[in-house]
Amino acid sequence: MRDKAWRLGPEHFGRLISVLAEQGYEVLGPQVDGPAVRWGPLTGPDELPQGIGAETSPGHYRLKQRSGPERFAWGPSPDSLKRWLHVPEECFVHAAQDNGAFHILPGEQPGAPPGGAAPPKFAFIGMRPCDLAALVRLDAVFLKGPYVEEHYSARRREAFLVVVNCTASLDTCFCASMECGPGARTGYDVALTEHTAEEPAAYLAEAGSARGVALIEAITAPRAEPGFIAECREACKQAAAVQRRRVDWRTAPAVMLRSFEHPRWEQTARRCLACGNCTLTCPTCFCVNTIEHTAIDGSTGGRSRVWDSCFTQNFTYIHGGSVRTSVKSRYRQWLGHKLAWWQQQFGTAGCTGCGRCIAWCPAGIDISEEFAALAGTAQGGTGA
Ligand code: SF4
Ligand code: SF4
Repeated sequence: MRDKAWRLGPEHFGRLISVLAEQGYEVLGPQVDGPAVRWGPLTGPDELPQGIGAETSPGHYRLKQRSGPERFAWGPSPDSLKRWLHVPEECFVHAAQDNGAFHILPGEQPGAPPGGAAPPKFAFIGMRPCDLAALVRLDAVFLKGPYVEEHYSARRREAFLVVVNCTASLDTCFCASMECGPGARTGYDVALTEHTAEEPAAYLAEAGSARGVALIEAITAPRAEPGFIAECREACKQAAAVQRRRVDWRTAPAVMLRSFEHPRWEQTARRCLACGNCTLTCPTCFCVNTIEHTAIDGSTGGRSRVWDSCFTQNFTYIHGGSVRTSVKSRYRQWLGHKLAWWQQQFGTAGCTGCGRCIAWCPAGIDISEEFAALAGTAQGGTGA
């Protein structure tokens, strides 16, 4: 459907949000929230960041003011869509005491929030192409295997996806080499590209689904002229060209196989705090644990699923102890799964090159630099 392209002005952007709300979607979009861009309910375009960019490097994330009209120049935010679709905590079993006996209470409909009647119907506006690529990876885990994860499925099925192609890369981005950005390829309902040579900014809109076409036709935007389309595409190409980090993911399985005893693992383990920040900010890390909880007076209890991290000692706890007791073995497991073993499981790398794990690692450990050290290739970075 990329042969159909429209030009959106600010008035169309406002209508896009209101038409989605009228269709019953809970519209979510990026907003400045204290020191970061995060996702929250969106009622109009004025709530989007304006003239805001971000500066990242290993262990560093800061918002910064820009002089232009751009609303989407802040790269991947610390939040990812994982938080909305594969939520941090989900209670599966609710129980209450009655007359001295415990009773299992009727649960919520799969995917519904606590106390809610039905799963939310989300419209995400402004997700990045690397986030869209991350959803494809979560889909493979939760929807395409022998067992479908019904909570994720209920929220994901209805989600309306408006991706915004990146025309500004952050220092930590390497999506171009992972083939996950800066332009979205498939999987969206509408793809926007911001044209910042005019003020206020305009948007190239391309539909990726029938409901995407219907949305743009409903907001009666004019067709985009060829010169405008070419300028938007060029801005996206420039965002790819400035990325200096890269990972050759196709060679990763071979590199990992020959690097199992590489001294680099030990060096990196001396820096790694095993805090798990990288896994929590990663949009594709999906591991969970189950926990039981009871009210302090014993009147209610339940079983919940919570995000877990392969960096914790207990992650591999089986009868009698943990399998991966050293930080070295845990870092090796994480990097190996992201770049190599995921390919064997799901046919793609488990990393989209969003760079979140680099910016949000308190020790400034850089996955692209670590891979380069193992592969024996030169790479810009911080040095260990
Ligand atoms: S491993 Fe790091 S760069 Fe890759 S998707 Fe996860 S957070 Fe992003
Ligand atoms: S690599 Fe960084 S973010 Fe990940 S566990 Fe180690 S110190 Fe924490």
